[in-house]
Amino acid sequence: MNFEDYKGVLVFIEQRDNIIENVSLELLGKGKDIANELGEDLIAVLLGSDNEDLAKKVSMYGANRVVYVDNKNLDIYTTEPYAQALTEIIKKENPDVVLIGATSIGRDLAPRVSARLKTGLTADCTKLEVSEDRQLMMTRPAFGGNIMATIACPDNRPQMSTVRPGVMKRPLKDEENLSLIQKVDIKFNESKFKVKVLEVTKETKEKINIEDADVLVSGGRGIGHKDAFIKLEELAGVLKGTVSSSRAVVDAGWLDHDRQVGQTGKTVRPNVYFALGISGAIQHMAGMEESECIIAINKDASAPIFDIADIGIVGDVHKIVPHLIDEIENAKS
Ligand code: FAD
Repeated sequence: MNFEDYKGVLVFIEQRDNIIENVSLELLGKGKDIANELGEDLIAVLLGSDNEDLAKKVSMYGANRVVYVDNKNLDIYTTEPYAQALTEIIKKENPDVVLIGATSIGRDLAPRVSARLKTGLTADCTKLEVSEDRQLMMTRPAFGGNIMATIACPDNRPQMSTVRPGVMKRPLKDEENLSLIQKVDIKFNESKFKVKVLEVTKETKEKINIEDADVLVSGGRGIGHKDAFIKLEELAGVLKGTVSSSRAVVDAGWLDHDRQVGQTGKTVRPNVYFALGISGAIQHMAGMEESECIIAINKDASAPIFDIADIGIVGDVHKIVPHLIDEIENAKS
């Protein structure tokens, strides 16, 4: 294998109903940094149908080229058509690096594609760096989150990685610097298609997207019981924020899993993260330590959350939160 033949950083752009997933934009930002370091191009690959306008939108986020496939087989995600299309494009482009979001779709697609390309895949990364010898160093939590493992792919190309949503910074839209847009056709082997989507039924429950919140008011086991979250909702309300939680809260059935922050929940980086009655287990901190400002309230002064907090208050959350709400209300009026 001649590594010189592999050039460029390729980012898979995930869309659902022709809406781009945030993680794909985040990967364009990180992909650009890596491409600049390597002196290579950034290529965005968009699969779907009726997606010409979407390709134009993708072109505003820094890629040198947007390669897109517009085909009915790619309308709704199923494994085989997507794996065939992405594998074929990667074989044609020969990129050095391939980045895919660690979403349910990305986690299904990436291993299939890496196996077809006979290369390695580091799943669920939280950090990507280029080493002095131009290798991609891919870091992810390992052994239940107790250590961070940095993994390289020294013998094969491309170097493939899935990256957790919310970890990388999303680039700003630039309507002046548009990418070159290329439409490509794929010859599908339809005899391999095993699954046909007959109907899509959308969940009617309102979806909470804690990843998009500027302010998160996160409660842990220290909140004590489900009803006490009403006060946290109130605090979130005055700050135009959203309530999230630790896993202990989800395990207790106080909140749904879509509110969970951490290694087995969501990765978030809000402007302000309140950690209320949360001890700061490594698996929790892995999901929120990149927040701009962390405010922790805990009655135990030695709680590990204080190690990463910008503002730490030692005390009873039930006494402090009502004061906080009053003070914020007063400051507003
Ligand atoms: P605790 O650790 O019990 O902490 C409660 C805190 O509240 C204590 O520090 C206590 O001092 C404080 N407190 C109590 N009463 C008050 C009060 N009145 N006022 C102020 N403070 C008070 N956890 C996650 O959060 N997210 C994950 O994604 C996640 N994934 C995991 C994956 C694996 C493989 C494993 C093994 C674990 C994972 N965990 C995860 C669990 C994690 O290890 C912790 O058990 C969990 O984060 C603890 O939640 P907590 O901080 O709410 O509870």
